[in-house]
Amino acid sequence: MSRVIELYDFLHTIPELGFEEHKTAAFLAGELQKAGFTVTERVGDTTGVIGVYDSGIDGPTLALRADIDALGHMIDGNLCAMHTCGHDAHSAMVLSAAEELIKTGSVQKGKLKIIFQPAEELGTGAPAMIKAGAIADVDIILGAHLRPIEELTIKQSTPALYHAASQRLKGLFHGVPAHGARPHLGVNVIDAAVAAITAVNAIHLNPNESYSIKATRFTCDSGVTNAIPAEASVIWDVRSELNSTMEKLIEKAKAAIEAGAATVGATVEVTNYQGIPAAEYSDEMVDLLAEAITAAYGAGGLHAPVKTAGGEDFHFYSKEKPSIKAGYFGLGCDLMPGLHHPDMKFNKDSLEKGKEIFLYAAKKILQG
Ligand SMILES: [Zn+2]
Ligand SMILES: [Zn+2]
Repeated sequence: MSRVIELYDFLHTIPELGFEEHKTAAFLAGELQKAGFTVTERVGDTTGVIGVYDSGIDGPTLALRADIDALGHMIDGNLCAMHTCGHDAHSAMVLSAAEELIKTGSVQKGKLKIIFQPAEELGTGAPAMIKAGAIADVDIILGAHLRPIEELTIKQSTPALYHAASQRLKGLFHGVPAHGARPHLGVNVIDAAVAAITAVNAIHLNPNESYSIKATRFTCDSGVTNAIPAEASVIWDVRSELNSTMEKLIEKAKAAIEAGAATVGATVEVTNYQGIPAAEYSDEMVDLLAEAITAAYGAGGLHAPVKTAGGEDFHFYSKEKPSIKAGYFGLGCDLMPGLHHPDMKFNKDSLEKGKEIFLYAAKKILQG
C-alpha cells in the first residue's frame, strides 16, 4: 500500500474536533520527527504542530499547510467527530510529500515548514497559528482541498480554488422602554431594527461584483407584550467573492444600520464577527500548481480555476501577511455525496496525485 493511503487510513480512524486534535497532533508530530524535522507541538497553546527542515543554505521558506480537524455530526442523538471534510486526506498528502522531500534530499536551499493547523472548521485555527508566529518567516504557503464530483472528477485538479469571503454583522439596538399605552414616551427597538433591515436591503453595489447581504436572525423579547421593547439584536450574513467588495459592503451596511436606528431615535452598536477573507493567490503559485497538475495527470487533467461560495480559513495567512505568496489547489477525487455529508466518500487513489502536486511544487521552490 502506498504511504499516503496508509497515513490516510490511520488518520481516518482518529477524527477529533477543532482544538481537540490531541491524538492526531501527537501522531503527526511523531512522524515528522522520524522524517528528520525539528518539531514544535502545542503551537500557540493549541493542538497545532509545526515541523521545520532547514537546508542551511539561503533561500525561501516554503510552508505546506494541512488542516487536521474533523466535524461534529449528530448521529442517533450523539455528537460524533467524523472526517467528512477530508482534512485527514490533506494531512496525509502533506506528510507523505514532506517525508519524500527529505528522503530524496530535495530541500537544497531555504527551509521547508510543515504547518498542521487545527480548527479550520471553526475558522479560528489559522488566526491562532498566525498569532503564534507560524508564518513570520514564511515566503510561500501552499494548501489544498478535496473537491466534490460536481466541481472536479478524479481525472482533474484545479490550480486555484477561489473561496468567497464571509462575515457576520451584529447590530445591538438600544431604545427606551415605556408602557404600551404611552409609546410616545419610549423608543421602540423593533421599529429601529426593521428600519435598519430595510436600509440594508436597499444597498446596491456594482452587480458585476458578486455579493449578498441579508438578515438571518432577529431577536427581541422584553418579556411582556404590553410594553415598548428597548433591546433587540439583528444578525446579517454577508458574502462576497472579493475582499475589496466585502470592505465596501461592511462600510455601507454599518452606515445603513446606524441610519435606520436613528430614524426612530434608537442607538445601535454594530460589530463584525466570524469573518473569513476571500482567496487571494499569487499568479506565480497558480502557474506553478498548473505546471504540477499537468505533470501529474498530463495536459487533460488541468481544470480551470474553480469558484466556491464556501469559506476556508487558509486565506487569513495571505490577508495577515500580504507579502506571502499563496497557492491552493483543488483535488479531483470523485467525492460524493458532498463535503460535510455524514456519508462523504471519495476515491483514495486521488491522494497519490495530491502528494505528487505538492512534491512537484516544493521541489521547484527548494531545489538548488
Ligand atoms: Zn469543511
Ligand atoms: Zn475542509
